[in-house]
Amino acid sequence: MERDWSLLEPDNIKDHSVLNLADLQEVTSAEGPGRRFAIWLQGCSIRCPGCWNPHMWSMKRRHLVDIGKLLNYVKVYENKIDGVTILGGEPLAQVRPLRAFVETLKKETDLSVLLYTGYEDKEIVQPDARWLVEYSDIVVFGPFIKELKKEGLKWIGSENQYIRFNNPAYEKCFLSSDEKDLIEIIIDTERMELTVVGYPDDSLLKELLV
Ligand code: SF4
Repeated sequence: MERDWSLLEPDNIKDHSVLNLADLQEVTSAEGPGRRFAIWLQGCSIRCPGCWNPHMWSMKRRHLVDIGKLLNYVKVYENKIDGVTILGGEPLAQVRPLRAFVETLKKETDLSVLLYTGYEDKEIVQPDARWLVEYSDIVVFGPFIKELKKEGLKWIGSENQYIRFNNPAYEKCFLSSDEKDLIEIIIDTERMELTVVGYPDDSLLKELLV
């Protein structure tokens, strides 16, 4: 069923309560541990050659959402998911509303947060951004470097990227599972859209594009 983005639109556009999203997926098993609500933020100035999502680089308005409405929408799926994955785009480009969203999510639910950033840990100094990398349960750091791309990596696309577990339970789960990255292919017959979630290898992508 087509998602009605207007239900998430802000009533007033205020700096710290609005996020610009590229997309979202209510339930996926391809973006981190367990089943997760995935949120792709629009806008990235890092622009790694070979990035999977160049259509998410532009900082232009895509889907403006009110963080309170987004939180309520996540809660609709609370019993079906283990956590929320935030990726993009570059999530830390919208750091103040993102912190407000994650802070409230953590207060009001037991859902875990997996945060992706194209920055290295040492590059992140802005206080809200530091809060996000300290309080998210899992953080994946680093840009995608196509020369270091390796198929079969779990949760990352290139070997330079690294995962920090602020919540040790997820490190145990990561180390004890030998499953490789999952790929999900979602076919929306109404919108005639095919969405690939996860990190498909080149051969699969070519097959899909034929
Ligand atoms: S940081 Fe992420 S979204 Fe930005 S260009 Fe690199 S891979 Fe793409």
